[in-house]
Amino acid sequence: MYIIMLGAPGAGKGTQADILSQEMNLPHIASGDLFRQALEERTGVGLLAKSYMDKGELVPDEVAIKMILERINQPDCAAGCLFDGFPRTLHQAEVLDKAFREQGKTIDKAIYIEVPNGELVKRLSGRWLCRTCQIPYHIINSPPKTPGKCDKCDGELYQRSDDKEKTIKERLSIFFTQTIPILDYYKKQNKLIKVNGNLGIQEVARAIISALKVPMSP
Ligand code: AMP
Repeated sequence: MYIIMLGAPGAGKGTQADILSQEMNLPHIASGDLFRQALEERTGVGLLAKSYMDKGELVPDEVAIKMILERINQPDCAAGCLFDGFPRTLHQAEVLDKAFREQGKTIDKAIYIEVPNGELVKRLSGRWLCRTCQIPYHIINSPPKTPGKCDKCDGELYQRSDDKEKTIKERLSIFFTQTIPILDYYKKQNKLIKVNGNLGIQEVARAIISALKVPMSP
């Protein structure tokens, strides 16, 4: 199955994709993580992406598309994957469909995790991530047991440089202008599933899994 996770920054796409990835045994392909990894490796794509990411802007379509198509052509994605953060523009969605058509594949579902704007800002501005395993924490809603350390792997926690107030506002505004039109695109194809993301992590996961009609592990 090929599933697209849609939602504003802070809606919980990554968290839910991690859960689904385990439940459905599918690789979790996060475009933002691929850019951050490229930046750590100091590749040309990583350095180019940084200038956009720092401002909260989208990396040019052609760069994002090339990176994702290369990633999903790897063998682990042959039977399906979960897209997190891609597509983010109508053009990206159309190019992905075209590439899939040429390979005889199709996107099965697009899941839109809906969260009110005020809640998104609160979530992003309090978000800390583990540098090693990427698990997200929140300074108020889900703090780590030891400040600055990941409960799971003891890795160092850090705040993303684009989780700053001004950049958060820019990212949200870009989502509402450039990404929202994608909802209609998948709705017209009868692939859109909307879930209320303003609930606990497990409740949202249950809603998604039940909408996908996938058996959930006990
Ligand atoms: P994320 O981790 O998904 O919040 O993405 C972080 C940043 O990476 C975004 O603010 C963009 O600058 C860039 N990015 C991630 N995915 C895409 C995409 N599909 N198209 C363009 N830029 C992207």
